[in-house]
Amino acid sequence: MSSDNPPPAPPHGDLTIAEVGNFGNDPDTHMSWNFDFLIVGAGYSGLVFAERAATELGRTSLIVEKRGHVGGNAQDEYDDHGVLVHKYGPHYFRTNSPKIREYLSQFTEWHPVPYRILSYAQGRYWKFPINLNTFEQIVGHPATEDEFKEWLETHRVPIDNPQNSEEVIISQVGWDLYEKFFKGYTLKQWRRHPKDLDASVCGRIPIRTNRDDRYLREEFQALPKAGYHKMFERMLAACGDKVRLLLHTDYREVLPHVSYRHMVYTGPIDEYYDNGFGALPYRSLRFENQSFTEGELSDRLAIAGKPGFWQPAMQVNYPNDEDFTRIVEIKHATGQATSNTTIVREYPDDYGPGKEAYYPIPAPDAAALYKKYEERTRSEKNVSFIGRLATYKYYNMDQVVGMTLADFERRRASFDWPRSSMA
Ligand code: FAD
Ligand code: UDP
Repeated sequence: MSSDNPPPAPPHGDLTIAEVGNFGNDPDTHMSWNFDFLIVGAGYSGLVFAERAATELGRTSLIVEKRGHVGGNAQDEYDDHGVLVHKYGPHYFRTNSPKIREYLSQFTEWHPVPYRILSYAQGRYWKFPINLNTFEQIVGHPATEDEFKEWLETHRVPIDNPQNSEEVIISQVGWDLYEKFFKGYTLKQWRRHPKDLDASVCGRIPIRTNRDDRYLREEFQALPKAGYHKMFERMLAACGDKVRLLLHTDYREVLPHVSYRHMVYTGPIDEYYDNGFGALPYRSLRFENQSFTEGELSDRLAIAGKPGFWQPAMQVNYPNDEDFTRIVEIKHATGQATSNTTIVREYPDDYGPGKEAYYPIPAPDAAALYKKYEERTRSEKNVSFIGRLATYKYYNMDQVVGMTLADFERRRASFDWPRSSMA
C-alpha cells in the first residue's frame, strides 16, 4: 500500500466517476486507487461513515455505489413537473435521539412536519392511525376517551405478550379494526399472513385513545428543509478532498483494482457471501408516478380540500381493495410552493433479479437464516457491516445513522494506520 507503488490502472474505461472535492484530480497527484476505506453503498450508512472518517480522522474513502446517485433509498429529486418527490417511497425523518438530530443538523436545517395520514376503506377516508377521532367516525357521534377505552375493552382480545403482527393488533383493538385496517394491507405488503410476521411490524403503528393523530411516535418529526439530496451533498462536501465517489458501479467490479485497509459494507448481507447459506427473503416495490397541472386539479378541490393538491393528506393508505398499499403526495409534507403536484402509487412486489431489496422481512424464519450470516461476519475484523441490508433489520433512517456513528466510534482507535501520502 505504499504510495511509492505505481498507481494501478483505473478499473474500466467506461466507469462513471463522479469526483467529489479534488481528491485524485490534482495534476500533480498521481491517480491512485489506495484508500483507507472502501465503502460499499452511498446511502445513509456509507455517507455518514465517510464523513466521520474524513472530518474526524482525515482518512480517505472510496465510496462505490451501484445506482446513479447518492442517498440510497432516502434520495429525493425534482421530477419533470418541478415537484420534489421521494424517489423510493415516502421518507419521514423522525428521531428521539438528540445526538442523531444534532449530527444531521450540521448538514441541514429542518422543516417540522407532524406527519398525518389517512386510510381509505369501505369507500371513505378514515382518521389513521386509530385514535379517538377514528372511534367517532366508527360510532357516528362525538365520544370521550373513556368511552373509547371501554369500547376497546369489550372488543380487544386479551393477549399478554403478543407474539406476532396479528396478535399485536387484535390485543389492542380487536378483530373488526384489525380486518378493516391491518390484515389486507399486511398481506399485500409482505405477501405473508400477519401471524407469520414479528409483532414489531404492525406494532410500528401507534394506536391511541386520545386525539393525537400523528402517524409516528417519535418526538422530533421533520424533513430536511432543502430536501434529502441537498443534505447528502453537504455531507459529501464536508469530506473535502478525502472522498472519491464511483457511481453506477458494483463494488465487485473494482475490488481487484483497489487497495484499502477497512471495508464498510452496506449492501445485502447474503450477496456479500454469495448466498452461501441461501438467499434471504426481501420485499420489493414498484412506484407509479402521476403528475397534475393546476388545471387538471380543479375537479379534485372538493376531495383534497385545498387547491394544488390531489388528495387530502400526504399519504393515504389503501388496506383492502386496491393492488397498491398507499398513495403518497409528498408536497403536503415538503411544503413546496408549486401549483403542480405528483402522486405516487406504491405497489408491493416480489423481490428478484433486477429489483431493489427494499425491505428485509421481520419474521422468525428469515431471522434464523440471517443469524447464520451474522455469525460469519464475526470473523471479519476488517469489515463493518452497517445499515438496513447488511444487518437485515427493518431500520428507519435515524437508527441507521445511530448505528453508523456507533460503529465508527467503537472502531476509531483501530484506524490508526500510518498515513499514506494521499491522506
Ligand atoms: P440504503 O439506503 O439501501 O443504501 C445502501 C446502498 O448500497 C444503496 O444505495 C445500494 O444501491 C448500494 N449497494 C448495494 N449493493 C451494492 C453493491 N454490490 N455495489 C455497490 N453499491 C451497492 N426510514 C425512515 O426513517 N422514515 C421513513 O419514512 C422511511 N420510509 C421508507 C420507505 C420505503 C419504501 C423504504 C424502502 C424505506 C424507508 N425508510 C424510512 C428506511 C430508510 O430508507 C433506511 O433506513 C435507510 O435509507 C437505510 O440506509 P442504508 O444506508 O442502510 O441503506
Ligand atoms: N400497516 C397496516 N395498515 C396500515 C399501515 C401499516 O397493516 O394502514 C402495517 C403493514 O404491515 C406495514 C406495517 O404496518 O407494512 C408498517 O407500516 P409503515 O407505514 O411503518 O411501513 P413503511 O413506511 O416502513 O413501509
